[in-house]
Amino acid sequence: MSSATHTSPLWELGGRLPWSKRCGVCRRTYDADGWGTLPAVLTLPPSSVQPHLTVPAGWTVVIRRCMCGTVLAARSG
Ligand SMILES: [Zn+2]
Repeated sequence: MSSATHTSPLWELGGRLPWSKRCGVCRRTYDADGWGTLPAVLTLPPSSVQPHLTVPAGWTVVIRRCMCGTVLAARSG
């Protein structure tokens, strides 16, 4: 039996995903660098994220404003 035809999921490749964020309004897609250039609206520390989760929150949520004006949220750290 061979599983060679089954491509390994990206998350098995060292845990380093090619990060991207897509705006649902204007359809722009930002990579990690592009995302970092957007103006940050708000940063939520793990203690603020935790009430919304059922698992331990170990990350910060950063909210940035897309070029079209839509606010987008992404995990950070
Ligand atoms: Zn947008």
